[in-house]
Amino acid sequence: MAIPWLIDVLRQAGLPVVEEGNWRDRSVSGAFDPFGVLWHHTAARSSPTNPAPSLSTVINGRPDLQGPLCHALVDYNGVFHLIAAGRANHAGAARASGPIPAGDGNTMLIGWEIDYEGDPSAADPQHMTDAQYQNSVTATAAVLTYLGRDASYARGHRETSTTGKQDPAFVDLDVMRADVAARMAGGRTGNVQHQVRNADGSWRGLSAVPAPGGTGAQGSKAAVAVLNDGAVLVVDIGPDGVLYHQVRRADGTWSGFQGVPAPGNAAARGSEVAAAGLPDGSVLLADVGPDGAVYYQLRRPDGSWSGFKTVPAPGNAAAKGSKVAVAGLPDGSAFLADIGPDGALYYQIRRPNDTWTGFQVVPAPGNATARGSELAAAGLRDGSVLLADVGPDGVVYYQLRRPDGSWSGFKAVPAPGNAAAKGSKVTVAGLPDGSALLADIGPDGVVYHQVRRPNDTWTGFQTVPGANNAPAHATEITAVGLADSTVQLVIVAPK
Ligand SMILES: [Zn+2]
Repeated sequence: MAIPWLIDVLRQAGLPVVEEGNWRDRSVSGAFDPFGVLWHHTAARSSPTNPAPSLSTVINGRPDLQGPLCHALVDYNGVFHLIAAGRANHAGAARASGPIPAGDGNTMLIGWEIDYEGDPSAADPQHMTDAQYQNSVTATAAVLTYLGRDASYARGHRETSTTGKQDPAFVDLDVMRADVAARMAGGRTGNVQHQVRNADGSWRGLSAVPAPGGTGAQGSKAAVAVLNDGAVLVVDIGPDGVLYHQVRRADGTWSGFQGVPAPGNAAARGSEVAAAGLPDGSVLLADVGPDGAVYYQLRRPDGSWSGFKTVPAPGNAAAKGSKVAVAGLPDGSAFLADIGPDGALYYQIRRPNDTWTGFQVVPAPGNATARGSELAAAGLRDGSVLLADVGPDGVVYYQLRRPDGSWSGFKAVPAPGNAAAKGSKVTVAGLPDGSALLADIGPDGVVYHQVRRPNDTWTGFQTVPGANNAPAHATEITAVGLADSTVQLVIVAPK
Protein backbone atom coordinates (compact mmCIF):
# COMPACT_ATOMS: atom_id res chain seq x y z
CA MET A 1 0.00 0.00 0.00
CA ALA A 2 1.80 3.10 -1.23
CA ILE A 3 1.06 6.54 0.21
CA PRO A 4 0.74 8.88 -2.81
CA TRP A 5 -1.82 10.84 -0.73
CA LEU A 6 1.05 12.18 1.36
CA ILE A 7 1.50 15.24 -0.86
CA ASP A 8 -2.13 16.32 -0.55
CA VAL A 9 -2.25 15.74 3.20
CA LEU A 10 0.91 17.81 3.76
CA ARG A 11 -0.16 20.62 1.43
CA GLN A 12 -3.59 20.82 3.01
CA ALA A 13 -1.84 21.16 6.36
CA GLY A 14 -0.19 24.28 4.91
CA LEU A 15 3.30 22.81 4.74
CA PRO A 16 5.95 23.69 2.15
CA VAL A 17 6.42 20.58 0.02
CA VAL A 18 8.92 19.71 -2.73
CA GLU A 19 8.45 16.62 -4.89
CA GLU A 20 11.82 14.93 -5.39
CA GLY A 21 11.70 13.33 -8.84
CA ASN A 22 9.63 10.16 -9.15
CA TRP A 23 9.00 9.88 -5.40
CA ARG A 24 5.65 8.20 -6.05
CA ASP A 25 7.42 5.21 -7.65
CA ARG A 26 10.28 4.85 -5.15
CA SER A 27 10.28 1.87 -2.77
CA VAL A 28 12.26 -1.08 -1.58
CA SER A 29 10.74 -4.55 -1.88
CA GLY A 30 8.58 -5.88 0.92
CA ALA A 31 5.31 -5.14 2.66
CA PHE A 32 4.16 -1.59 3.51
CA ASP A 33 0.99 -1.07 5.51
CA PRO A 34 1.75 1.92 7.74
CA PHE A 35 -0.25 3.07 10.75
CA GLY A 36 2.26 5.30 12.55
CA VAL A 37 5.00 7.89 12.04
CA LEU A 38 8.66 7.52 13.05
CA TRP A 39 10.95 10.52 13.64
CA HIS A 40 14.67 10.44 12.82
CA HIS A 41 17.62 12.77 12.50
CA THR A 42 20.11 12.33 9.64
CA ALA A 43 23.32 13.11 11.60
CA ALA A 44 24.31 15.58 8.85
CA ARG A 45 24.93 19.23 9.67
CA SER A 46 22.42 21.43 7.84
CA SER A 47 22.54 25.21 7.53
CA PRO A 48 20.82 28.11 5.78
CA THR A 49 23.20 27.71 2.84
CA ASN A 50 22.99 23.88 2.83
CA PRO A 51 19.50 23.13 4.11
CA ALA A 52 19.25 19.50 2.94
CA PRO A 53 22.72 17.87 2.98
CA SER A 54 21.22 14.35 3.17
CA LEU A 55 18.92 14.68 0.16
CA SER A 56 20.94 12.47 -2.19
CA THR A 57 21.63 9.87 0.49
CA VAL A 58 18.00 9.38 1.51
CA ILE A 59 17.02 8.95 -2.15
CA ASN A 60 19.89 6.75 -3.29
CA GLY A 61 20.86 4.96 -0.09
CA ARG A 62 24.28 4.13 1.32
CA PRO A 63 26.72 1.35 0.46
CA ASP A 64 25.30 -0.69 3.36
CA LEU A 65 21.61 0.19 2.89
CA GLN A 66 19.47 0.47 -0.23
CA GLY A 67 17.42 3.65 -0.69
CA PRO A 68 14.92 5.16 -0.31
CA LEU A 69 15.73 5.74 3.35
CA CYS A 70 12.59 7.67 4.36
CA HIS A 71 9.31 9.03 3.03
CA ALA A 72 10.12 12.71 3.55
CA LEU A 73 13.28 14.64 4.35
CA VAL A 74 12.65 17.72 6.50
CA ASP A 75 15.22 20.37 5.64
CA TYR A 76 16.69 23.20 7.75
CA ASN A 77 13.81 25.49 6.78
CA GLY A 78 11.13 22.91 7.56
CA VAL A 79 10.46 22.17 3.88
CA PHE A 80 9.17 18.62 3.31
CA HIS A 81 11.04 16.90 0.46
CA LEU A 82 8.99 13.92 -0.72
CA ILE A 83 11.30 10.92 -1.17
CA ALA A 84 9.17 7.77 -1.43
CA ALA A 85 5.53 6.67 -1.49
CA GLY A 86 6.41 3.01 -0.96
CA ARG A 87 8.28 1.02 1.68
CA ALA A 88 11.55 2.66 2.74
CA ASN A 89 14.56 1.46 4.74
CA HIS A 90 14.33 3.76 7.76
CA ALA A 91 13.08 1.86 10.78
CA GLY A 92 14.62 -1.62 10.62
CA ALA A 93 13.40 -4.11 13.18
CA ALA A 94 11.24 -2.47 15.84
CA ARG A 95 10.79 -3.25 19.47
CA ALA A 96 7.42 -2.45 20.97
CA SER A 97 6.91 1.23 21.81
CA GLY A 98 3.59 2.77 22.82
CA PRO A 99 0.89 1.25 20.62
CA ILE A 100 3.47 0.12 18.01
CA PRO A 101 4.14 -3.62 18.43
CA ALA A 102 7.47 -5.33 17.90
CA GLY A 103 7.97 -6.29 14.28
CA ASP A 104 9.08 -4.97 10.90
CA GLY A 105 9.30 -1.20 11.40
CA ASN A 106 9.51 -0.54 7.68
CA THR A 107 6.11 -2.18 7.20
CA MET A 108 4.41 -0.33 10.05
CA LEU A 109 5.84 3.18 9.96
CA ILE A 110 6.09 6.27 7.76
CA GLY A 111 9.45 7.98 8.34
CA TRP A 112 10.53 11.62 8.49
CA GLU A 113 14.30 12.09 8.29
CA ILE A 114 14.87 15.48 9.90
CA ASP A 115 18.11 16.87 8.47
CA TYR A 116 20.26 18.00 11.42
CA GLU A 117 23.40 16.71 13.05
CA GLY A 118 22.12 15.86 16.52
CA ASP A 119 25.55 14.91 17.86
CA PRO A 120 25.87 15.61 21.60
CA SER A 121 29.67 15.24 21.38
CA ALA A 122 30.06 17.99 18.77
CA ALA A 123 31.76 21.19 19.92
CA ASP A 124 28.68 23.16 18.82
CA PRO A 125 25.86 20.60 18.84
CA GLN A 126 23.16 21.15 16.24
CA HIS A 127 19.57 20.78 17.47
CA MET A 128 16.44 20.49 15.36
CA THR A 129 15.55 23.97 14.04
CA ASP A 130 12.27 25.55 15.15
CA ALA A 131 10.96 25.24 11.58
CA GLN A 132 11.88 21.54 11.50
CA TYR A 133 10.20 20.93 14.83
CA GLN A 134 7.01 22.87 14.14
CA ASN A 135 6.56 21.49 10.63
CA SER A 136 7.35 17.92 11.73
CA VAL A 137 4.66 18.28 14.40
CA THR A 138 2.19 19.68 11.85
CA ALA A 139 2.97 16.95 9.30
CA THR A 140 2.71 14.19 11.89
CA ALA A 141 -0.63 15.54 13.11
CA ALA A 142 -1.95 15.69 9.55
CA VAL A 143 -0.80 12.17 8.66
CA LEU A 144 -2.09 10.60 11.87
CA THR A 145 -5.42 12.36 11.35
CA TYR A 146 -5.53 10.88 7.85
CA LEU A 147 -4.67 7.43 9.23
CA GLY A 148 -7.25 7.74 11.99
CA ARG A 149 -4.67 7.26 14.77
CA ASP A 150 -3.88 9.42 17.78
CA ALA A 151 -0.62 11.13 18.68
CA SER A 152 0.71 8.07 20.51
CA TYR A 153 1.29 6.50 17.08
CA ALA A 154 4.19 8.95 16.56
CA ARG A 155 7.45 7.54 17.92
CA GLY A 156 11.13 8.40 17.86
CA HIS A 157 13.61 5.96 16.33
CA ARG A 158 15.40 5.76 19.67
CA GLU A 159 12.19 4.33 21.14
CA THR A 160 11.76 1.54 18.56
CA SER A 161 15.36 0.75 17.61
CA THR A 162 16.72 -2.68 18.48
CA THR A 163 20.27 -1.56 17.67
CA GLY A 164 20.72 1.42 19.97
CA LYS A 165 19.83 4.30 17.62
CA GLN A 166 19.73 7.64 19.46
CA ASP A 167 17.72 9.74 17.00
CA PRO A 168 16.11 12.19 17.03
CA ALA A 169 18.47 13.85 19.51
CA PHE A 170 17.76 16.82 21.81
CA VAL A 171 13.99 16.38 21.63
CA ASP A 172 11.68 15.33 24.47
CA LEU A 173 9.53 12.86 22.56
CA ASP A 174 6.68 13.06 25.08
CA VAL A 175 6.54 16.85 24.63
CA MET A 176 6.66 16.46 20.85
CA ARG A 177 3.78 13.95 20.99
CA ALA A 178 1.82 16.35 23.20
CA ASP A 179 2.37 19.06 20.61
CA VAL A 180 1.09 16.69 17.92
CA ALA A 181 -1.98 15.96 20.06
CA ALA A 182 -2.59 19.69 20.58
CA ARG A 183 -2.27 20.33 16.86
CA MET A 184 -4.73 17.53 16.12
CA ALA A 185 -7.16 18.91 18.71
CA GLY A 186 -7.17 22.56 17.87
CA GLY A 187 -4.76 23.63 15.20
CA ARG A 188 -1.75 25.80 15.79
CA THR A 189 -2.89 28.70 17.88
CA GLY A 190 -0.93 31.44 19.55
CA ASN A 191 -1.29 34.94 20.96
CA VAL A 192 -2.65 37.49 18.49
CA GLN A 193 -0.64 40.70 18.90
CA HIS A 194 -0.60 44.12 17.31
CA GLN A 195 2.22 46.55 16.55
CA VAL A 196 2.36 49.95 14.79
CA ARG A 197 5.29 51.21 12.76
CA ASN A 198 5.35 54.99 12.75
CA ALA A 199 6.00 56.99 9.59
CA ASP A 200 9.55 57.65 10.81
CA GLY A 201 10.27 53.91 11.10
CA SER A 202 10.06 53.67 14.89
CA TRP A 203 7.69 51.15 16.53
CA ARG A 204 5.11 51.83 19.22
CA GLY A 205 5.36 48.47 21.01
CA LEU A 206 3.78 45.07 20.73
CA SER A 207 0.46 44.65 22.52
CA ALA A 208 -2.20 41.95 22.77
CA VAL A 209 -5.28 42.23 20.59
CA PRO A 210 -8.03 42.40 23.23
CA ALA A 211 -10.55 39.56 23.55
CA PRO A 212 -13.59 39.04 25.81
CA GLY A 213 -12.84 38.62 29.49
CA GLY A 214 -9.89 40.97 29.39
CA THR A 215 -7.60 38.35 27.91
CA GLY A 216 -5.49 38.61 24.81
CA ALA A 217 -6.91 37.09 21.63
CA GLN A 218 -5.84 33.58 20.65
CA GLY A 219 -5.82 32.41 17.09
CA SER A 220 -4.14 30.47 14.33
CA LYS A 221 -4.24 33.03 11.48
CA ALA A 222 -4.97 36.72 11.13
CA ALA A 223 -5.66 39.36 8.50
CA VAL A 224 -5.74 43.14 8.67
CA ALA A 225 -7.29 45.65 6.25
CA VAL A 226 -7.55 49.42 6.20
CA LEU A 227 -10.91 51.17 6.64
CA ASN A 228 -11.61 54.71 5.42
CA ASP A 229 -11.17 56.70 8.64
CA GLY A 230 -7.76 55.67 9.93
CA ALA A 231 -9.23 52.52 11.42
CA VAL A 232 -8.35 48.96 10.52
CA LEU A 233 -10.33 45.73 10.50
CA VAL A 234 -8.57 42.81 12.22
CA VAL A 235 -9.77 39.30 11.46
CA ASP A 236 -8.53 36.21 13.21
CA ILE A 237 -9.27 32.50 13.16
CA GLY A 238 -9.85 31.50 16.76
CA PRO A 239 -8.85 28.25 18.47
CA ASP A 240 -12.35 26.99 17.58
CA GLY A 241 -11.68 27.51 13.85
CA VAL A 242 -14.22 30.34 13.69
CA LEU A 243 -13.49 33.66 11.92
CA TYR A 244 -13.78 36.70 14.21
CA HIS A 245 -13.38 40.39 13.38
CA GLN A 246 -13.09 43.66 15.21
CA VAL A 247 -12.24 47.25 14.39
CA ARG A 248 -9.24 49.07 15.79
CA ARG A 249 -10.22 52.72 15.68
CA ALA A 250 -7.86 55.53 14.76
CA ASP A 251 -7.55 56.45 18.45
CA GLY A 252 -6.28 52.95 19.28
CA THR A 253 -9.46 51.66 20.95
CA TRP A 254 -11.03 48.36 19.90
CA SER A 255 -14.65 47.56 19.06
CA GLY A 256 -14.66 43.97 20.43
CA PHE A 257 -14.75 40.72 18.48
CA GLN A 258 -17.77 39.53 16.55
CA GLY A 259 -18.12 36.43 14.41
CA VAL A 260 -17.88 36.86 10.64
CA PRO A 261 -21.40 35.99 9.43
CA ALA A 262 -21.95 32.86 7.36
CA PRO A 263 -25.14 31.53 5.70
CA GLY A 264 -27.95 30.44 8.02
CA ASN A 265 -26.55 32.38 10.99
CA ALA A 266 -23.76 29.82 11.19
CA ALA A 267 -20.28 30.74 12.32
CA ALA A 268 -17.83 31.19 9.46
CA ARG A 269 -15.01 28.66 9.63
CA GLY A 270 -11.79 28.50 7.73
CA SER A 271 -8.16 27.51 7.67
CA GLU A 272 -6.82 30.68 5.97
CA VAL A 273 -7.97 34.27 5.80
CA ALA A 274 -7.01 37.43 3.89
CA ALA A 275 -8.51 40.91 3.78
CA ALA A 276 -8.01 44.12 1.80
CA GLY A 277 -9.51 47.58 2.07
CA LEU A 278 -11.16 49.10 -1.00
CA PRO A 279 -11.30 52.85 -1.81
CA ASP A 280 -14.93 53.24 -0.64
CA GLY A 281 -14.11 51.95 2.85
CA SER A 282 -15.40 48.45 2.31
CA VAL A 283 -13.23 45.39 2.97
CA LEU A 284 -12.92 42.32 0.76
CA LEU A 285 -12.52 39.27 2.99
CA ALA A 286 -11.39 35.95 1.51
CA ASP A 287 -10.94 32.64 3.26
CA VAL A 288 -10.28 28.99 2.62
CA GLY A 289 -13.25 27.13 4.05
CA PRO A 290 -13.29 23.71 5.74
CA ASP A 291 -14.13 22.19 2.32
CA GLY A 292 -10.97 23.66 0.76
CA ALA A 293 -12.95 26.13 -1.39
CA VAL A 294 -11.96 29.80 -1.55
CA TYR A 295 -14.78 32.11 -0.40
CA TYR A 296 -15.14 35.89 -0.33
CA GLN A 297 -17.52 38.51 0.97
CA LEU A 298 -17.58 42.26 1.33
CA ARG A 299 -17.84 44.16 4.60
CA ARG A 300 -19.57 47.38 3.61
CA PRO A 301 -18.57 50.78 5.05
CA ASP A 302 -21.68 50.68 7.31
CA GLY A 303 -20.43 47.41 8.87
CA SER A 304 -22.93 45.13 7.14
CA TRP A 305 -21.75 42.03 5.24
CA SER A 306 -22.65 40.91 1.72
CA GLY A 307 -22.64 37.15 2.42
CA PHE A 308 -20.09 34.56 1.34
CA LYS A 309 -19.75 33.42 -2.26
CA THR A 310 -17.22 31.04 -3.73
CA VAL A 311 -14.50 32.51 -5.92
CA PRO A 312 -15.29 31.30 -9.45
CA ALA A 313 -12.99 28.85 -11.20
CA PRO A 314 -13.15 27.46 -14.77
CA GLY A 315 -16.13 25.25 -15.62
CA ASN A 316 -18.45 26.94 -13.10
CA ALA A 317 -16.47 25.28 -10.33
CA ALA A 318 -15.58 26.87 -7.01
CA ALA A 319 -11.91 27.72 -6.65
CA LYS A 320 -9.98 25.39 -4.35
CA GLY A 321 -6.83 26.51 -2.65
CA SER A 322 -4.51 26.13 0.29
CA LYS A 323 -3.68 29.85 0.71
CA VAL A 324 -5.25 33.11 -0.44
CA ALA A 325 -4.18 36.74 -0.69
CA VAL A 326 -6.14 39.86 -1.68
CA ALA A 327 -5.20 43.45 -2.52
CA GLY A 328 -7.37 46.51 -3.13
CA LEU A 329 -6.81 48.64 -6.24
CA PRO A 330 -7.49 52.37 -6.71
CA ASP A 331 -10.34 51.81 -9.19
CA GLY A 332 -12.36 49.79 -6.68
CA SER A 333 -11.41 46.42 -8.12
CA ALA A 334 -9.48 43.83 -6.13
CA PHE A 335 -6.69 41.40 -6.89
CA LEU A 336 -7.05 37.85 -5.51
CA ALA A 337 -4.32 35.20 -5.68
CA ASP A 338 -4.38 31.68 -4.38
CA ILE A 339 -2.23 28.59 -4.24
CA GLY A 340 -4.19 25.87 -6.00
CA PRO A 341 -4.37 22.18 -5.09
CA ASP A 342 -1.50 21.63 -7.56
CA GLY A 343 0.74 24.04 -5.63
CA ALA A 344 0.71 26.64 -8.44
CA LEU A 345 -0.02 30.36 -7.92
CA TYR A 346 -3.15 31.70 -9.64
CA TYR A 347 -4.70 35.15 -9.70
CA GLN A 348 -7.71 37.02 -10.98
CA ILE A 349 -9.35 40.42 -10.57
CA ARG A 350 -12.73 41.11 -9.01
CA ARG A 351 -14.34 44.11 -10.70
CA PRO A 352 -16.39 46.62 -8.68
CA ASN A 353 -19.61 45.13 -10.16
CA ASP A 354 -18.74 41.74 -8.56
CA THR A 355 -17.73 40.02 -11.80
CA TRP A 356 -14.37 38.23 -12.07
CA THR A 357 -11.81 38.13 -14.89
CA GLY A 358 -11.02 34.40 -14.56
CA PHE A 359 -7.92 32.77 -13.12
CA GLN A 360 -4.54 32.98 -14.79
CA VAL A 361 -1.27 31.52 -13.58
CA VAL A 362 1.27 33.88 -12.03
CA PRO A 363 4.19 33.90 -14.47
CA ALA A 364 7.57 32.54 -13.41
CA PRO A 365 10.91 32.53 -15.24
CA GLY A 366 11.15 30.42 -18.42
CA ASN A 367 7.36 30.27 -18.85
CA ALA A 368 7.26 28.03 -15.81
CA THR A 369 4.34 28.07 -13.41
CA ALA A 370 5.02 29.89 -10.15
CA ARG A 371 4.83 27.64 -7.11
CA GLY A 372 4.91 28.41 -3.47
CA SER A 373 3.80 27.60 0.02
CA GLU A 374 2.77 31.12 1.13
CA LEU A 375 1.74 34.30 -0.61
CA ALA A 376 0.84 37.90 0.13
CA ALA A 377 -0.31 40.87 -1.94
CA ALA A 378 -0.61 44.62 -1.51
CA GLY A 379 -2.05 47.30 -3.77
CA LEU A 380 0.25 50.22 -4.47
CA ARG A 381 -0.75 53.81 -5.10
CA ASP A 382 -0.24 53.62 -8.88
CA GLY A 383 -2.58 50.65 -9.30
CA SER A 384 0.12 48.01 -9.38
CA VAL A 385 0.15 45.01 -7.05
CA LEU A 386 3.17 43.80 -5.12
CA LEU A 387 2.98 40.01 -4.87
CA ALA A 388 5.32 38.11 -2.55
CA ASP A 389 5.59 34.39 -2.06
CA VAL A 390 7.66 31.75 -0.34
CA GLY A 391 8.95 29.49 -3.11
CA PRO A 392 9.48 25.73 -2.96
CA ASP A 393 13.12 26.46 -2.06
CA GLY A 394 12.07 28.46 1.01
CA VAL A 395 13.20 31.75 -0.59
CA VAL A 396 10.97 34.84 -0.37
CA TYR A 397 10.28 36.19 -3.87
CA TYR A 398 8.42 39.24 -5.10
CA GLN A 399 7.21 40.72 -8.34
CA LEU A 400 5.01 43.57 -9.45
CA ARG A 401 1.84 43.30 -11.48
CA ARG A 402 1.72 46.59 -13.31
CA PRO A 403 -1.49 48.58 -13.85
CA ASP A 404 -1.55 47.40 -17.49
CA GLY A 405 -1.65 43.76 -16.30
CA SER A 406 1.95 42.89 -17.22
CA TRP A 407 4.32 41.33 -14.67
CA SER A 408 7.82 42.42 -13.75
CA GLY A 409 9.21 38.91 -13.14
CA PHE A 410 10.12 37.32 -9.82
CA LYS A 411 13.17 38.42 -7.89
CA ALA A 412 14.42 37.14 -4.56
CA VAL A 413 14.00 39.56 -1.67
CA PRO A 414 17.56 40.61 -0.77
CA ALA A 415 19.08 39.56 2.54
CA PRO A 416 22.46 40.50 4.07
CA GLY A 417 25.56 39.30 2.25
CA ASN A 418 23.92 39.25 -1.19
CA ALA A 419 21.87 36.27 -0.03
CA ALA A 420 18.24 35.63 -0.87
CA ALA A 421 15.83 36.02 2.04
CA LYS A 422 14.49 32.75 3.46
CA GLY A 423 11.25 32.67 5.32
CA SER A 424 8.26 30.61 6.33
CA LYS A 425 5.64 33.38 6.06
CA VAL A 426 5.51 36.75 4.30
CA THR A 427 3.32 39.85 4.23
CA VAL A 428 3.42 43.11 2.26
CA ALA A 429 1.87 46.54 2.88
CA GLY A 430 1.68 49.47 0.46
CA LEU A 431 2.57 52.99 1.61
CA PRO A 432 1.36 56.36 0.28
CA ASP A 433 4.70 57.30 -1.29
CA GLY A 434 4.67 54.20 -3.52
CA SER A 435 7.03 52.23 -1.32
CA ALA A 436 6.03 48.98 0.38
CA LEU A 437 6.89 47.27 3.62
CA LEU A 438 7.68 43.55 3.43
CA ALA A 439 7.86 41.49 6.60
CA ASP A 440 8.70 37.83 6.90
CA ILE A 441 9.28 35.18 9.51
CA GLY A 442 12.85 33.96 9.16
CA PRO A 443 14.06 30.38 9.65
CA ASP A 444 14.80 31.37 13.27
CA GLY A 445 11.14 32.28 13.89
CA VAL A 446 11.98 36.00 14.19
CA VAL A 447 9.92 38.69 12.42
CA TYR A 448 12.00 40.79 9.99
CA HIS A 449 10.95 43.73 7.86
CA GLN A 450 12.32 46.06 5.23
CA VAL A 451 10.97 48.65 2.84
CA ARG A 452 11.02 48.41 -0.94
CA ARG A 453 11.42 51.86 -2.44
CA PRO A 454 9.56 52.82 -5.63
CA ASN A 455 12.84 52.51 -7.58
CA ASP A 456 13.05 48.80 -6.57
CA THR A 457 15.86 49.21 -4.05
CA TRP A 458 15.50 47.82 -0.52
CA THR A 459 16.44 49.30 2.85
CA GLY A 460 17.77 46.04 4.34
CA PHE A 461 16.16 43.80 6.96
CA GLN A 462 15.66 44.79 10.57
CA THR A 463 13.86 42.89 13.30
CA VAL A 464 10.45 43.95 14.58
CA PRO A 465 10.60 44.72 18.29
CA GLY A 466 8.58 42.51 20.61
CA ALA A 467 8.39 42.29 24.39
CA ASN A 468 11.20 44.21 26.17
CA ASN A 469 12.45 45.28 22.73
CA ALA A 470 13.67 41.74 22.05
CA PRO A 471 12.97 40.64 18.45
CA ALA A 472 9.37 39.49 18.02
CA HIS A 473 8.80 35.81 17.26
CA ALA A 474 5.76 34.70 15.29
CA THR A 475 4.12 31.83 13.45
CA GLU A 476 1.87 34.10 11.35
CA ILE A 477 2.17 37.67 10.16
CA THR A 478 0.01 40.21 8.34
CA ALA A 479 0.40 43.95 7.72
CA VAL A 480 -1.35 46.92 6.15
CA GLY A 481 -0.18 50.43 5.25
CA LEU A 482 -2.30 53.49 6.14
CA ALA A 483 -2.73 56.91 4.54
CA ASP A 484 -0.64 58.51 7.32
CA SER A 485 2.32 56.29 6.32
CA THR A 486 2.04 54.11 9.41
CA VAL A 487 1.97 50.34 9.11
CA GLN A 488 -0.15 48.16 11.35
CA LEU A 489 1.22 44.68 11.89
CA VAL A 490 -0.69 41.75 13.40
CA ILE A 491 1.22 38.61 14.37
CA VAL A 492 0.41 35.28 15.95
CA ALA A 493 3.11 34.74 18.55
CA PRO A 494 3.95 31.31 19.99
CA LYS A 495 2.38 30.68 23.40
ZN1 LIG B 1 16.76 6.84 12.55
